[in-house]
Amino acid sequence: MSNEHQLMPGKAIRLEAMPTRAKSFHDDRGSAEREFFELRDELAELQRRVYAEGEHKLLIVLQAMDAGGKDGTIRHVFRGVNPQGVRVTSFKNPSENELAHDFLWRIHQAVPATGMIGVFNRSHYEDVLVVRVEKLVSKNVWEARFEQINQFERMLSETGATILKFYLHISKEEQAERFQARLDDPRKNWKFSPDDLEKRKKWEDYMAVYEDALNRCTTDWAPWYVIPSDQKWYRNLAIARVIVDTLRELNPQYPKTTIDANSVLVE
Ligand code: AMP
Ligand code: MG
Repeated sequence: MSNEHQLMPGKAIRLEAMPTRAKSFHDDRGSAEREFFELRDELAELQRRVYAEGEHKLLIVLQAMDAGGKDGTIRHVFRGVNPQGVRVTSFKNPSENELAHDFLWRIHQAVPATGMIGVFNRSHYEDVLVVRVEKLVSKNVWEARFEQINQFERMLSETGATILKFYLHISKEEQAERFQARLDDPRKNWKFSPDDLEKRKKWEDYMAVYEDALNRCTTDWAPWYVIPSDQKWYRNLAIARVIVDTLRELNPQYPKTTIDANSVLVE
């Protein structure tokens, strides 16, 4: 199964050359939304099966610049699923306790159990992204992490997890508009932090480390998808397509009862 936004191992990409908007022939919001709503219903049904069957684990990693749409993706794509079977984990600045452990320690605890879908809002990738740009650890420490991440993800995949990693690709102009909306709308003020502007000043540095992480951590067992995300409706559709395609392939089934319905008396 391949997808137009999926990166391939050994085929390095340049982020600058990757689109942040849908191709023009896809640029039909109405039909995109209709397809998205259908996929969302299908996702809800597939998730019920995953939960009932209790065999598969799906891990979805979301990474993006600030205002890139991670929260919106979770809100829109997962509307309709049973909250009991989906666990969202948002990774913030590590606590003192988390920093006293290896960088994957807090991540591993949030990996989905069988029957579950786990969604990471930021992830272990922060440890080769923000950590690198803000120089929080030395080069030899972050350099070793690419291989550590690949091996960690390999282990998760070998122990039954299906991993999908999405980079929500927005343009610097789109980020400016979304920041402005967060400043203008009192209901969105809380989403804005002055730190966001400091990071924006280092946009090119962030693009460079994202590019490196995407290229070095694209593997057969844990592919990255670079999703054009300036248009939220296209982003939602593109991500829903990948998730639903993946779940269709896993083909989860409702378990059949071994009880003979005729022999059971329901009073
Ligand atoms: P937000 O997702 O906007 O609530 O912000 C969470 C903040 O935590 C972001 O600025 C991230 O860069 C930061 N963060 C998450 N993980 C790490 C990490 N491993 N090391 C340093 N900062 C992190
Ligand atoms: Mg933020």
